[in-house]
Amino acid sequence: MGNEVAGSTWIQFGGNVSKIPNDLAFPDWAARRSATILFDLDGTLFDHSSAVTGALEEIFTTHTSEIARDEIGFRTTWTRASSSLFDTFEKGTLSWAQQGRQRVKLAFNRPSLNDDAADRFFATFVEAYEDRWELFPDALPCLERLRGRALGIVTNGHPQQQRKKLYKLRLREHFQEVLISAEIGKPKPSPGIFLEASRRLWTHPAECIVVGDSWQNDVEGGRNAGMQAVWLDRVGSTVRPGVPVVKGLAEIPDLVARW
Ligand SMILES: [Mg+2]
Repeated sequence: MGNEVAGSTWIQFGGNVSKIPNDLAFPDWAARRSATILFDLDGTLFDHSSAVTGALEEIFTTHTSEIARDEIGFRTTWTRASSSLFDTFEKGTLSWAQQGRQRVKLAFNRPSLNDDAADRFFATFVEAYEDRWELFPDALPCLERLRGRALGIVTNGHPQQQRKKLYKLRLREHFQEVLISAEIGKPKPSPGIFLEASRRLWTHPAECIVVGDSWQNDVEGGRNAGMQAVWLDRVGSTVRPGVPVVKGLAEIPDLVARW
């Protein structure tokens, strides 16, 4: 229990009552009085798809003179292969470098391409992707308005790349906890990664709200962990009943104020 008295807060732990300065006591207790929010990263705070589109343009134009390939076939195969090869990385079947090589060989339709060349092509993609990292314009204003709340990131992805992204985009300071699937061993939509987030943030799952752009990974995954969810549908293309839907992050602070 907290009873605020000018500049300090009396807090009772069991039979003991302690007087704690507000600058120490308030942020944590404020967070506990309202729901914890767990944000997805790619496609929610960070504009992943624009960065990938630009990086694919770069790898294609840089290396297509070395290997002839039609652009539509290249893009389609890359996109299809990315998701299945990323799964093999998360399961530990292939290393990050191995799945990168495979993506290049499949997308350029050249299974016999030597590994050094494939690594070089993949490095072009990664560098071009990182050069294009940008937040959605509504991300930081939303996080600023949520200051004082307990906030976490729950993302599937390559740990070093996701952490680099958080620091480069100055997101890290906004979050008490960051959970990355390849470190936790339970990728979304597994409830396990969401439950681990609630445990680390000292919040009951029912008091967590998951905000993300993937219906399957974020909305269904979060709800299967006993959490509430908000679906971010930036393009407004699909009607899905049963959960609050927003078209942008600007709607989030007012929406979660009711929880
Ligand atoms: Mg996403």
